[in-house]
Amino acid sequence: MKKVVKFGGSSLASARQFKKVGDIIRGDKARRYVVPSAPGKRNDKDEKVTDMLYQCYDAASEGRSYKKILEKIRSRYEEIIEGLDINLSLEHEFANIEENFVNKAGRDYAASRGEYLNGMIMAAYLGYEFIDAAQVIFFDGEGNFEPDTTNQELKERLEHVERAVIPGFYGSKHDGTIKTFSRGGSDVTGSIVAKAIHADMYENWTDVSGFLVADPRVIKNPEVIETITYKELRELAYMGASVLHEDAIFPVRREGIPINIRNTNRPDDKGTLIVESTVRKPRYTITGIAGKKGFCSINIEKAMMNAEVGFGRKVLEVFEHFGISFEHMPSGIDTMTVLVHQSEFEEYEQSVIAGIHRAVEPDFLEMESDLALVAVVGRGMKASRGTAGRIFSALAHARINVKMIDQGSSELNIIIGVKNSDFEASIKAIYDIFVSAEM
Ligand code: ASP
Repeated sequence: MKKVVKFGGSSLASARQFKKVGDIIRGDKARRYVVPSAPGKRNDKDEKVTDMLYQCYDAASEGRSYKKILEKIRSRYEEIIEGLDINLSLEHEFANIEENFVNKAGRDYAASRGEYLNGMIMAAYLGYEFIDAAQVIFFDGEGNFEPDTTNQELKERLEHVERAVIPGFYGSKHDGTIKTFSRGGSDVTGSIVAKAIHADMYENWTDVSGFLVADPRVIKNPEVIETITYKELRELAYMGASVLHEDAIFPVRREGIPINIRNTNRPDDKGTLIVESTVRKPRYTITGIAGKKGFCSINIEKAMMNAEVGFGRKVLEVFEHFGISFEHMPSGIDTMTVLVHQSEFEEYEQSVIAGIHRAVEPDFLEMESDLALVAVVGRGMKASRGTAGRIFSALAHARINVKMIDQGSSELNIIIGVKNSDFEASIKAIYDIFVSAEM
């Protein structure tokens, strides 16, 4: 058995957290390859080391004073080293970093030092080999990740290494400059390593006990999703549910390597298992609910629209022309509605309307703002009758006016449009009818 274990920033924010991580790793011999993030927040008021590194670099490279913040960063690491009682000096590393900051080595270089230094500490603490991610994870000249060269190099490098720490979040271009993934990218590194070594499992340790059925800011103590498929995850993540970096799915997905989201602070919780497909039935009819506010709809009416070939294309071309992507497009015989992000649309509103008038000469055009979309997602919906009925009767009972309905052809999701002001109440109503009632 081989497992890759990635630990997020809050799991490594202090020596106390590091010790929990040490216990977790030592608790299972299969946990051979460790991918750490940079130290995160120790409490709500604290700062992430990555954010401090960006600030410090900006100051140093613009000739402003940076020493104070560099000291703050250094003390975060010193505190961890002291608390773990390990014999490691970062004196030389910090001298190097300071010099490179002043010489403008780049913001990516700066940010990557958070993971780099944490990786060194982790390797010393565990007695694992340290492998600098710059030597095994590659980007091309434009900064795009290179999956093939990376996979090859990582595979060869790790073949003969029994246990190693590989810092998350960054790699290098062929000229040696450091490049990072987007924020939260240590998740991606973990996934890439898991693929390269053909891991049996990719454990992603964070500060929640898995993916939740609904947003805890809307539902108090929501249930944890036990098993979720990649497709379901993608639907929920797109609608704003985030635990894992979006790009972390792709390397492991085709390899059949499951991702297990786990909680460093509650290591006995099973967390959420993310898999390609499963015969396991979801605990409730639905897997999860997520949603977003801030949409608007453009409703177009024209007599005999149904007979006019190319009508939809002409309308969508207007949106395309202004670089506005559409989210949904429900239609009737002589009506069609285009749902877009309000923030993307507002700037071009009048031009888009003029464009539609010119393109298709509608009889009537109306807009509605402040809409929210709620996605009810679940592989279980396909096999069970009456799911839509239950959703809409729950919404009716909660006196919520449904503005739009869209069911994906995969029968994996039902999307409902409501007023922004009904957003929270809609999620509560749906949660209650499926989760609270089925418990
Ligand atoms: N430390 C980086 C960030 O804060 C990457 C990560 O934590 O995954 O975004």
